[in-house]
Amino acid sequence: MPRFRQILDTMPAYKPGKAVATPDGRSYKLSSNESPYDPLPSVVEAIAEGARQINRYPDPGAIKLTEAIAAKYGVPAEHVALGAGSVTVAQQLFETVGEPGAEVVYAWRSFEAYPLLADLAGVRSVMVPLKGEDHDLDAMAEAITDDTRMIFVCNPNNPTSTAVRRAELEAFLDRVPERVLVVLDEAYREYVRDEDVPDGLDLYRDRQNVCVLRTFSKAYGLAGLRVGYLIGHEPVAAAVRKTIIPFAVNHLAQVAAIASLQAEDELLERVDRVVKERARVREALLAQGWTVPPTEANFVWLRLGERTLDFAAACAVEGVAVRPFPGEGARVSIGDPEANDAFLAAAAAFPR
Ligand SMILES: *Cc1c(COP(=O)(O)O)cnc(C)c1O
Repeated sequence: MPRFRQILDTMPAYKPGKAVATPDGRSYKLSSNESPYDPLPSVVEAIAEGARQINRYPDPGAIKLTEAIAAKYGVPAEHVALGAGSVTVAQQLFETVGEPGAEVVYAWRSFEAYPLLADLAGVRSVMVPLKGEDHDLDAMAEAITDDTRMIFVCNPNNPTSTAVRRAELEAFLDRVPERVLVVLDEAYREYVRDEDVPDGLDLYRDRQNVCVLRTFSKAYGLAGLRVGYLIGHEPVAAAVRKTIIPFAVNHLAQVAAIASLQAEDELLERVDRVVKERARVREALLAQGWTVPPTEANFVWLRLGERTLDFAAACAVEGVAVRPFPGEGARVSIGDPEANDAFLAAAAAFPR
């Protein structure tokens, strides 16, 4: 029997959001925070055109896409590092700091990939409990030790949907030593409407140790193609570029991401629709008597505790897949109006 690393026995497995369906075929997937919209025709066309070149390796430096991202934000191309989804960029970040004794600090509960990636990289996780549904940035600052190499701040936080405000985040960053890398995971940035929630790109500019993670998976609707990126200062971005597996970002992902940036107005208009639905869903839940944290993302969070799995099962009966975190709560993505109505009906029927 081959010997494997011990950590593989204790590592949590990543649980992807599942789909469910009723016997008569109703199925609403609100479990993975995906875009509910079909890909734009212009993006599908770019992918079809790109398919004609797949006998060739992709551009390993993804130069066109890197330049398009740099131009969009007005940052130097050297500050951009790509990966096969921002989860992979996060994994690359762990590769850049992972060595015996290294620690990473993040809130818990937060994005479930963090503990997995830390374990894989041999980095010790220091999980700082949320305060209510929010990051406890004071406690996170206090958790920094000489071994801390990296801190993740998921803003807005997956799965609790809450966002850290500018003043508190700046005060926190002022307390973090410059030798510690702070990663602002902004997978849901396009859904943020509260102006007090800072754009990480404004914070990274004067801070050498701050970087921002973004993705094409959520607002841009390319979850199936796997492309995300980091924006950070040259040493950070360069370190991340060194850890990429050659050709990780495939050709179709590159061309689709470029086409999506070209169709940004159309895509952001869809984001606006989701934001309107988000308000409608949250108000309806509040009217039903639920406690729902304010959300700046494309999902809502219900802290159901021991009833979480029962709630997910009740939603499944209506064809609605939600993402349960057993013993804690359920995360429910905002879908199209029909899906949201199906979810609201299931929620209304469930005892508060
Ligand atoms: C969905 C999500 C990501 C993005 O994942 P991709 O690998 O880009 O699809 C990153 N961070 C958080 C917090 C997320 O919820």
